[in-house]
Amino acid sequence: MKILVINAGSSSLKYQLFDMENETVLAKGLCERIGLDGRVKQSVPGRPDFEAERAMADHSDAIQAVTLLLTSPETGVIKSMDEISAVGHRVVHGGEMFNSSVLIDDSVIAAIEECVPLAPLHNPPNLVGIDACRQRLGDVPQVAVFDTAFHQTMPEKAFMYALPYEYYENFKIRRYGFHGTSHLYVSRKAAELLGRPIEKLKIITCHMGNGTSIAAVKNGKSVDTSMGFTPLEGVPMGTRSGSIDPAIIEFLSARCGMDIGEITTVMNRKSGVLGISGVSSDFRDLHAAADGGNRRAQLALDMFAYAIIKTIGGYAAAMGGCDALVFTAGIGENNARMRQWVAGDLGYMGLNLDSARNAVRGETFISTADSPGKIMVIPTDEELVIARDCAAIVGGNTR
Ligand code: AMP
Repeated sequence: MKILVINAGSSSLKYQLFDMENETVLAKGLCERIGLDGRVKQSVPGRPDFEAERAMADHSDAIQAVTLLLTSPETGVIKSMDEISAVGHRVVHGGEMFNSSVLIDDSVIAAIEECVPLAPLHNPPNLVGIDACRQRLGDVPQVAVFDTAFHQTMPEKAFMYALPYEYYENFKIRRYGFHGTSHLYVSRKAAELLGRPIEKLKIITCHMGNGTSIAAVKNGKSVDTSMGFTPLEGVPMGTRSGSIDPAIIEFLSARCGMDIGEITTVMNRKSGVLGISGVSSDFRDLHAAADGGNRRAQLALDMFAYAIIKTIGGYAAAMGGCDALVFTAGIGENNARMRQWVAGDLGYMGLNLDSARNAVRGETFISTADSPGKIMVIPTDEELVIARDCAAIVGGNTR
C-alpha cells in the first residue's frame, strides 16, 4: 500500500510518498514559493536530488507538480497516482472535536474550518492543501492527522486556564498542546526501545526545535504539555517568548503605544532566544556567539535550558516519577551541549546522563548503564505517524 503524506503551508507544500509494506520512503519533496516564482525539490533514495523552477499559481498547481514529479519517466517512482491508496494531511488544529485521525469528508472540512480562529496561520493552508488534493486526485481517500489530537487525553486540571469558566464554554479557551504526532511517535518508540509496555511507563518527551514543547506521557497518554491555547505558550523558543506574565501586555501597550496585535507579533516573531540574544534564532549561531564571548547569546541558551529543566521537574512531579526522558527535533537530536545542560543534573530524579554517549548521533540511549531512568535521543518522524494512521483508516495493515 502506498500513502502520500502532505504538509501544506501558506506558500509551500511538503510531501512524502511511503510504501507501507516496509514503511520506506519512496520519494520526498517540497514545492515552495507557491504563488510567486515557484520551485520544486525532490529526493529519491539512491538517485541525485532533483530541483527545478516550476510556476505554481496555487496549491492545486503544486499538487499537479507533485503528480508529475512522482509519475514522470525522469523523476518518477510510480506509474500513476492510482497506485496511491490514501493521502494523509497534517492539520495543526482539531480543537476538541478530534482526538484521533479521521477520514476527511465535508463535515470534517467544516470542523477544521471551525478551528481556523484557533490557528489562523496554520489551518487555512492545511485546508487549501486538502482542497487541492480533492480537485486533482479524484476519489482517493484523504485523512486528517491533527497536531492537537494526542493531547486530548489531558485531564481537565491540566488543560483548563483559571479564567472565568464561561470563556471555556463560550470560546473554547483551554490548553490544546501541539507537536502531538511527534510526542506520540517518540514516546511509543521509547517504550519499544526500552522493551516495556507503554501502558506502564512515565515518559517526558522534549521536542526541541524552532518551536519547542515538552510533554508528560503517562501510560501512553499525554497528561500535560507546555504549549497551550496556541504554540506561543511554554518555554522560550527560537523567536517566541513562551510564557510571560500576561500583565506585561497592558504595560507595554501603555509604555510603547503598541496595540495588542503588534505586541503579539513581537512575542511570536521577535522574542525567544532571538529577542534575548539579538543574534539569531538558530542555536548554532547562538553557540558560536556565546563561545566568542557574547553574554546575551549565553543568557538566551541558559534561559532555554533552565525553562526546560523546570518543566521536566514539574512533569516528573505531576506523574510521580519519570522512567524515560526523550530528546527529539532539530535541537534535541543534534545539539549535544544543550542536552548536557538540560539533563546533566537530573540525577536527583534517577536520570543520569552519560556524557560520552551523549556525544553520539542518531537514535540512542544517552544515560549511564546503571541509571534507574533512561535518557534517549529519538529522531522524530511525524510523516510516518501520518502514513500509519492513513493506512489503518483505509483498511490496510500497519505494524
Ligand atoms: P527544527 O525546528 O526541529 O527543524 O529545529 C531547528 C533548530 O535546530 C534550529 O535552532 C537549529 O539551530 C537547531 N539545530 C539543528 N542542527 C543543529 C546542530 N547540529 N547543532 C545545534 N543546533 C542545531
